[in-house]
Amino acid sequence: METQQARLMDGTDLARRITETSAAAAEDIRRRAEVSPCLATVLVGEDPASVTYVRMKQARCAKAGIRSRHVPLPASVSTSGLVETVTALSEDPDVHGILLQHPVGAHIDERAAFEAIAPEKDVDGVTMHSFAAMGFGLPGFVSCTPGGIMRLLDEYDVDLTGKHAVVVGRSPILGKPVGMLLLGRDATVTYCHSRTVGLPAIVREADVLVAAVGRPRFINGADIKPGAVVIDAGYNPGNVGDVDFETARHRASLITPVPGGVGPMTIAVLLEQTVDAAARRLIRP
Ligand code: NAP
Repeated sequence: METQQARLMDGTDLARRITETSAAAAEDIRRRAEVSPCLATVLVGEDPASVTYVRMKQARCAKAGIRSRHVPLPASVSTSGLVETVTALSEDPDVHGILLQHPVGAHIDERAAFEAIAPEKDVDGVTMHSFAAMGFGLPGFVSCTPGGIMRLLDEYDVDLTGKHAVVVGRSPILGKPVGMLLLGRDATVTYCHSRTVGLPAIVREADVLVAAVGRPRFINGADIKPGAVVIDAGYNPGNVGDVDFETARHRASLITPVPGGVGPMTIAVLLEQTVDAAARRLIRP
């Protein structure tokens, strides 16, 4: 039934507005505390995609008046070496937020490295502390992409109460936390993953669908419930999402484009949380 054309959820515009507000808040901190917010970025090795992501985050920081302190480490760094570096940043009063770019390399205990981030500097929302706070609905920093998705849903006045939200993907930084945030907003949440049986039938029941799989055009438009809200968090080579956009846009009521949907929101939330961390330390401790 191809009866409609979905409205696009514009992440680029919303991210720009959030970043403008963060820049104004960063300037206010600089004026009042005579120091600008500072994000430390830790990069292990030279994986080209990670190098690009970190550069992009630093460039956006600079535009918003946030200093970055870049800490590159060799791919051969040990878990204890990485933990030591992150611990030093956690203890450094001039650093307000810490971003440890992942993946960090298979020989490293990534969890141990993340846990060395002090909760009050966990602006990327990757520690157990942040995850638990989010699960309990308590204040804290959220995982950035899930946080960005929730902001997009709110921007487009999507009422989540009692809605069936289906999240395809259960990674610790994306699928799992976005499901928890949706649950916290009274949606009825179903998680799907690689062992799910009968996935298309579950997708067809979704009022709100979040695709976080990492497989190009994995969700077929024909499986989308007419009128559903479709959030495509996927970002695959060639700027292709996890949802088959051309077929899905005729079934959904709202849909995020790729690029320009979820992607820009991730960095916007990172900047916002960095400025917030700095404000908590410098202005309203
Ligand atoms: P991930 O860690 O690889 O997780 C992928 C998830 O998809 C896993 O839970 C996996 O299930 C599930 N999955 C894989 N194949 C499946 C299948 N055939 N059927 C059902 N589920 C399947 O990936 P991620 O880090 O969450 O990222 C997912 C996508 O989001 C990627 O395209 C990534 O580039 C994108 N992303 C975008 C942003 C952004 O800023 N826009 C940020 C992060 C990620 P199992 O758990 O069973 O293995």
